[in-house]
This record gives sequence, C-alpha cells and structure tokens, in this order.
Amino acid sequence: MKEIKHFINGEFISSTNGKTFPDINPATGEVIAQVCEGGAKEVDLAVQAAKQAFKTWGKMPQAKRSALLLKLAEGIRARADDFIQAEIADTGKPISLASHIDIPRGSANFEQFAEHFKYVATECYEMEGALNYALRVPVGVIGVISPWNFPLLLMTWKVAPALAAGNCVVVKPSEETPATASLLGEVCNAVGIPAGVYNVVQGFGKDSAGEALSEHPDVRAITFTGETTTGKAIMRKAADSLKKLSFELGGKNPNLIFADADLEEALNTTMRSSFANQGQVCLCGSRVYAERSIFDKVVAGLVKRATETVKVGDPLNPQTTLGSLISQGHWERVMSYIDSAKADGATIHCGGKRPADLPAKFTKGAFLEPTVITGLDRHCKAQKEEIFGPVITVTPFDTEAEAIELANDTQYGLSATVWTSQLQRAHTVAAAMEAGILWVNTWFLRDLRTPFGGMKNSGIGREGGVHSLEFYSELKNVCIKL
Ligand code: NAD
Repeated sequence: MKEIKHFINGEFISSTNGKTFPDINPATGEVIAQVCEGGAKEVDLAVQAAKQAFKTWGKMPQAKRSALLLKLAEGIRARADDFIQAEIADTGKPISLASHIDIPRGSANFEQFAEHFKYVATECYEMEGALNYALRVPVGVIGVISPWNFPLLLMTWKVAPALAAGNCVVVKPSEETPATASLLGEVCNAVGIPAGVYNVVQGFGKDSAGEALSEHPDVRAITFTGETTTGKAIMRKAADSLKKLSFELGGKNPNLIFADADLEEALNTTMRSSFANQGQVCLCGSRVYAERSIFDKVVAGLVKRATETVKVGDPLNPQTTLGSLISQGHWERVMSYIDSAKADGATIHCGGKRPADLPAKFTKGAFLEPTVITGLDRHCKAQKEEIFGPVITVTPFDTEAEAIELANDTQYGLSATVWTSQLQRAHTVAAAMEAGILWVNTWFLRDLRTPFGGMKNSGIGREGGVHSLEFYSELKNVCIKL
C-alpha cells in the first residue's frame, strides 16, 4: 500500500512513532494509502528546517525568488495529470472540475504572486529635514492550515504569496486530502526550491499536527482556511505566542434573484453556485431568495435542471458534473440537515437521497443528489447553519428592503450574489450586503488581485493581490535626518 509521508527539509520522512491513518477514496470507500500521522515532534522538525532555510530564502532578491516560483508553477503544469488523479482520488470530485479549476488554479497562484510582488513599491515621505521610507521584509516561518474542498488550490493560495514574499512555510493539509500537498514537495525538489522552504506535516487538528503548529513559538503567523469553530480553536492556541492571523472561514451565502433579472442566465449560474464541487465551496450561494412574482419559476427552473441536467456519478467520467461528498461522515452530517428541514415542515422538491442507479463500484460512495428545499423560515437550522453539501433552500421575498434584511440575517458574511438588470439596484444592494465578496449577475468570477475574505464569522483579514503581501510581510519605516 502506498504511504504518504511528511515532507521536511526536502526529504520524505515517516513519523518517529510510526503512526499512520488511512486515506479513503470517498467515491468508492476504498483505502488508497496510509498517511503518516505527525505531531509536535514532526512539527518542530519542520519549523526548525523552515527557520534555517529562511536565512537564505528570506534574503534572496525578489526577481530570483519569483523566477524559482514560476518554475514551480510550470512544474505543476508538467505533472497536471498526477495532481488531477490524486485530487480526485482524495476528494471524489469530478474530473471536469479538478482539471479546469483545482489544478490550473494551483499553478496560477504561484504565477500570480511571483509576478505581482515584483512590482509593488513601498512608501516614501519627505519632511522638513528628514526622509522616511518603508522597507518590506518577510515575516519568517508561516504555518498554513488548509481544508479539503480545494486541497491544492486553497493551500497554494496561501503558500504562493507566503513564499513569494520571502517566508518559509510549514503546511498542515486536511487529513481527508493529504496527497497533493505531498506531490508538491516532489515538484519543489525537481525545480530546485531550496530544502526547508516548503514543508508538509500530515495529521489531524486537535491534539495533533494542526494544534502543534498553531502553538509553536517559532511560527510567526498562521494562515488558515476552514470552519469558523476551528478558527476559534486556532486563535486560542496562537494567542500565547501572539501570532499574526489570517482566517478564511465558513459561509452561508445569500443569492438574491430579482424579477428584473435575466432569468435563464440567473438559473444556469445558480445551478453552479449551488452545486459546484457538490456544494462544498465556501462561496456557494446556499440560501436562494427569489422575488415572489418569479418564485415558482425559479423553483421549477432549478428542479428541472437539477433532475435533468446534473449528472451524478463516476468522478473520472468527463460527463459527470456532481461527484462524491468528501466522506461518509460528511454525507451523514449533510443528511441530518435535510432531515431537520423535513422535521421543520419543508418541501423537498428533488434530491435528499443517494442516487439509486450508481454503478456497483460506487455503491459505498458518499454520493448525494442535488437537493432543492422550500418552505423554511429564517430560524430553521437548515437556513441558519452552513451545510456544505449539494443542498439549497429557496425563499420568496416581496421588496428590495426585505431581500437585504433576509440576506444579512446570518452570523456569516463571506459572499453574496445579486441578480438584477437595474443598474441602480445592483449598486445599492451590493453596497448593503454584509459580505466581503459580492457578485452581480455572475458567480465565482475571480481576479486574484482583488481582496478576498469574509466579514462577521466568515473570517479575519483579506488575502489576494497586495492584501496577501500585507499579511505575509512586515513594513519597517526608516527615518533619516538630512
Ligand atoms: P476544518 O476546520 O474542519 O479543517 C480545516 C483544517 O484545520 C484541517 O487541516 C484540519 O485538520 C485543521 N484543524 C481542525 N481542527 C484543528 C485544531 N483544533 N487546531 C488546528 N488545526 C485544526 O474545515 P474543513 O472541514 O476541512 O473545510 C470546510 C470548511 O472550510 C467550511 O466551513 C468552509 O466554509 C470553510 N472554507 C472557507 C473558505 C474561505 O475562503 N472562507 C474556503 C474553503 C473552505
């Protein structure tokens, strides 16, 4: 059986205590590898390697560092098939998504930040008899704790700017998806990234590698993507050593469809914003609100598409649009929300069950049909909590003010989508949303230079473009008396 090891100081190593855990393909239920389980000891080894590497990587001229990271981007592209296969086996996501989003974006993250950071200037202020200028320096060793929904994409979204800014990293990938972080270690070695710049410790969160990284005194900053409750736990552990923190957390994003919208376009895109990656995207619009005059049309249009155009099944089939959820445990969690909606009197228009006609190979897989629910008021569990599966609730509204009020009635504030053909409404509603990322008449259209992050319980800070540079560097002001 394949073993997935830690990647520390340019070498693949096992845990000192020999502990491993199984890596399961959620589409088939098969164990595909054994993963070394790291703890405080492995984290410390990785942090010491990163500290050592930082002495040279942190002082390397930006152009040279960027050139190496561009080679890394190229190295990912050269091994795209290996990355795609590994990501699909770990997550059960369809190849149509992994080959168009996950892996290309993993590579693009390195290109984006390697190029961008070459051209960012610092400030300079002249005053009477003195000159001030700012020097930008890297922070040091950064801990990267990442989730399972876009394993390579979300991990490199943090690793790329951290390395481009001159830091060294210790990554703790999700225990559900260990493979591509490990593969990236192979590519680092192949393209000549110095040993210790990129390190990976495999393992779990609490009482395991994630917690050890969060509290290690030599880790200067933690950048984390995952659940809000995990963010709180990390913050507590990081407090003693006063680390910088960047948190990208959960969401329960509203999708407002006004009667003046281009309905066809709104429905087609709403299918993606509801069910892409099996609904396991932090930016998914899981709460759909439709103006009452078009409410029935919206529900019927979504149900028709969910039952007639979505193809659930074999992740490796290029025609598949909906793969498996991340695990059987997560499947049960998502089902518990559907059950709670039923208990609250909801109508389940479609889905809410495992597809009946899956090939024998996938009968143990964590597949779930796309599910459309109506009839829930705002206080129901399925309307309030993040489900993180292929499940949406659709609710009518009567006025613009009511739509805004319903949309903002949540502890979260990650993203929101507005569908309207009225220019003024687009601006006023977008401005009124309590969310960090707004889309009007589109969804998931991303420019990597823009600020990305959430308000309220959806996060702390922004990453993307210069915002990443702000987090992954320190500014020093130099004042010279003339
Ligand atoms: P999770 O919080 O369960 O796990 C994320 C990572 O944290 C994993 O590597 C895990 O091992 C680690 N971890 C868990 N407990 C820990 C602890 N006590 N100390 C240190 N590390 C710990 O999240 P998940 O289930 O992997 O991902 C799904 C969640 O991520 C959803 O809530 C989703 O909304 C969120 N998410 C947010 C964004 C965003 O950009 N805002 C993007 C993707 C996913």
